[in-house]
Amino acid sequence: MKHYDVVIVGGGINGCGLLRDLALNGVSTLLIEKGDFASQTSQSSSKMLHGGVRYLENFDFGLVAEALEEKNLWLKLAPHLCFEREFYLPLYNYSKYRPWMLGCGLFIYDFLSHFQNRPFAVLNKEETLNKVPSLDAKGLKGSGRYFDGVVDDAKLTLECLYDALIEPNAEALSYHEVNNCHKTSDGYEVTFKSVLNGKTETVKAKYVVFTAGPFTDKLLPKLNFHWKSQLLPSKGIHLWIKKDSIKAEGSVVLTTKDNRVVFVIPQRDAILVGTTETPVDQEMFNIKATETEVQYLLNVLKQYFPHTGLDENSIISTYAGVRPLVKEEGHSEGLGKVSRFHKIYRPDERTYVLIGGKYTTFRRMTQEIAQELVPRLGKRYSPNLTLNPLRQKSIVPTFGKKPELTLEMIKKIIKEEKVTTFEDLVKRRLSLLEETQNIKEISGIPVETIKALF
Ligand SMILES: Cc1cc2nc3c(=O)[nH]c(=O)nc-3n(C[C@H](O)[C@H](O)[C@H](O)COP(=O)(O)OP(=O)(O)OC[C@H]3O[C@@H](n4cnc5c(N)ncnc54)[C@H](O)[C@@H]3O)c2cc1C
Repeated sequence: MKHYDVVIVGGGINGCGLLRDLALNGVSTLLIEKGDFASQTSQSSSKMLHGGVRYLENFDFGLVAEALEEKNLWLKLAPHLCFEREFYLPLYNYSKYRPWMLGCGLFIYDFLSHFQNRPFAVLNKEETLNKVPSLDAKGLKGSGRYFDGVVDDAKLTLECLYDALIEPNAEALSYHEVNNCHKTSDGYEVTFKSVLNGKTETVKAKYVVFTAGPFTDKLLPKLNFHWKSQLLPSKGIHLWIKKDSIKAEGSVVLTTKDNRVVFVIPQRDAILVGTTETPVDQEMFNIKATETEVQYLLNVLKQYFPHTGLDENSIISTYAGVRPLVKEEGHSEGLGKVSRFHKIYRPDERTYVLIGGKYTTFRRMTQEIAQELVPRLGKRYSPNLTLNPLRQKSIVPTFGKKPELTLEMIKKIIKEEKVTTFEDLVKRRLSLLEETQNIKEISGIPVETIKALF
C-alpha cells in the first residue's frame, strides 16, 4: 500500500491550489478527483478575479480587500491567464443609487486595493453610451467605471496542478472517486475507485483534506464522518453569446428587477452573461442550465439592450455551477446576500475540510491549511513559494492568438496536460465555447479523428 503525508479529495481550484502549496513545501501529497480536474465549480464561475463591488453593501471590507490583493497578484503572476477589464455600472432614473453614492462606493473599492486597481470614474450619459452603445438610452443618467480581472478559471486551476506536478512529491488522479476513509492509529486508509474501469485502490495518509466544494455535505456523511450540513448550495448559470449581439467596449453590470446583478463580459471572441442564484435540490455533479434560467438571463438582456434583437439564436452555449456558500446563523435574506467567507472545519485531528470562499482567494484559503499542516509533518512552511510564477503553461492560450492545431499538437496536449476524454480536451485545454456535441472539426481536423485518440 502506498503511503502519503496528505491525500486531498477534490481537484477544483482549492484542491489543486493546496496540492501546489504542499508540494512546493516538500510534502508528499496525492490529489484525487472524481471527474476531470476543474470540471465542476472551478470551470463554472463568472470568470472574474474580483474584490466584489457589491459585497461593499454588506460591509465585507476585509473580504473585499483580501480578494483585491489576490486579484492584483494573479494579474502579475499569470498574465497569460487573466487580464484587467473595465466594468460599466449604468445608473437609470429608477436606480437606487445616485451618481455621487456610486462614486463613493467605487472610491472605497479602489482604496481597499491600496490604489492598485486602475482608477474608477463616474461617466455621464453621453460618455456611457459612447462606451456601451447598445445600452437603453431611455432614463439613463450615466455610469460608474471600475476595473476587475477576467480569468480562465479552468486553466488557472490546471496550471496550478501542472506546477505542483513538477515537484517529485506530488501526484494527482482524475476520474477516481473516493468512497471510503478508514481511520487508523496514525491517519487514514483512503479507498478510491476508477470511474472509468471500476478498479479500486487503497492508500495510507497521515492527513486527509477535503476540498470537495458544493459536494462536501453529501460526501462526508457517506464516508462516515461526523458531519452536520454546513452549506447553502446556490446554483448559477451563464450564457456565452455571440460577440456581435451587444455593442460594448467593456463589461457591463446590470441590476435586475429582483435586486441582483448580471455581468455582461466581452472576452474570447464572445460575450459571457451571468449569473443566476437559486437553491439546489437536485444532483449537483455536471449540473446543467434549465430553460427557465436561460430565459431569465435573456429577459435581463432584453430590458437593458432592447434594440439588439437578442434571442435564443444569439446563444453559443450555456453552463451551470453550484456555489458552495456557507450557512450563517440566523441568516434570512436571499442567497445573494450570503457572505462569501470560507470556513475550515476539523472533524477530527487528522482531517481538514475547506468550504465556501471565492475562486479569487483560493491561495489565501488553502494557505491557512498548509501553514498549519506542514509544521505538523515536521517541515518548515514557507509562505512565499506560492508567489512564484506558474512554470508549465497550457499549450493553447485562452486569450490572444491561438495556434493552428495539428494532430501532433493535439497528441502532445493529451499527453502533457493530463487529458482523459474528448470533453476534457475541447472544454478545458482548447477552451472552445461551442457545446461539445456541436463541434464537427478542430482546425480542419474532423472530430472523429480526434476522438479516435482516446
Ligand atoms: C455561478 C458561479 C459564479 C461564480 N463566480 C465567481 C467569480 O466570478 N469569482 C470568484 O472568485 N468566485 C466565483 N465563484 C465561486 C468559485 O467558483 C468557487 O468558490 C470555487 O470554484 C470552488 O472551488 P472548489 O475547488 O472548492 O470546488 P470544485 O471546483 O467544485 O471542486 C470540488 C471537486 O471535488 C470533486 N469531488 C466531489 N466528490 C468527490 C469524491 N468522492 N472523490 C473525488 N473527488 C470528488 C468534484 O468532482 C469537484 O471537481 C462562482 C461560483 C459559481 C457557482
